[in-house]
Amino acid sequence: MHTERFAPSPTGELHLGHAFSALTGWRRARVAGGQFLVRMEDLDQGRVRSEFVDQIYEDLTWLGVDWDGEVVFQSARYDAYRSALDRLTAMDLTYSCTCTRRDIAEAVSAPQEGAVQAGPDGPVYPGTCRDRAVRPGIPAAIRLDIRKALDCLGAMALDFEETGSGPHGETGRIELDRDNLIHGTGDVALARRDDAPAYHLAVVVDDAWQEITHVTRGRDLFSATPVHRLLQHLLRLSVPVYHHHRLIRDDAGKRLAKRDHAHSLAALRDAGWQPGDLLRRLGLD
Ligand code: GLU
Ligand code: ZN
Repeated sequence: MHTERFAPSPTGELHLGHAFSALTGWRRARVAGGQFLVRMEDLDQGRVRSEFVDQIYEDLTWLGVDWDGEVVFQSARYDAYRSALDRLTAMDLTYSCTCTRRDIAEAVSAPQEGAVQAGPDGPVYPGTCRDRAVRPGIPAAIRLDIRKALDCLGAMALDFEETGSGPHGETGRIELDRDNLIHGTGDVALARRDDAPAYHLAVVVDDAWQEITHVTRGRDLFSATPVHRLLQHLLRLSVPVYHHHRLIRDDAGKRLAKRDHAHSLAALRDAGWQPGDLLRRLGLD
């Protein structure tokens, strides 16, 4: 069955971009006679607030978006992420990393490093801890050794299906670019230094567990999809069809940010907007 999900992080208010994702995924699911699920990606416990969870329900209801079944909270699924991580570790594809954000920023800005590459999580991790023994007792992140992970594939090519979001709305298969995975994505974290599972791992584990067949999300996440595809292969997980939609911008053409209260759905509602106004603004009417 066509199953979509909306997977917000309750660390801020939903804005027009989230509304676009939710409405697009919800419509695709309903047109196909399928299911639409909501998953709270609440792994960043330092920033998660229960008011944001409540507000997400309120926003979706206001938009006319309904969902099927119980809402899944990632914070209740640590065991599932841990066992996926253990499998990758047993395959010798991970290593411990004690670098702080600052260590990474300093390493990537060192003069011999050249231009700083931005990956899906900020600067591409320079690999400082890849071949060094990490002292026990220090908080450590667990990273995926992307080269070893790619070596696992041998000559096999991996691709994923992307629907309707090419420049001309085309659908097609996108082949993983090994060089770009190594240099543009790098050794992503699978668990953070505070022991919390990281987004890339949790998202593939949950999309498979919830039997998601179609993922609708913004183009800002397009660069994360190749590593998701790779993790799905390594963990033998199902692979949804992806649709990365255009980003919604403010009137000045700037990308919307989570901190930007003026474009939050709650602020628009307070300013008297009706759901129909919003659909027109998003070009969905
Ligand atoms: N939780 C992510 C976000 O709010 C979205 C994850 C996804 O759709 O894959 O940006
Ligand atoms: Zn490190």
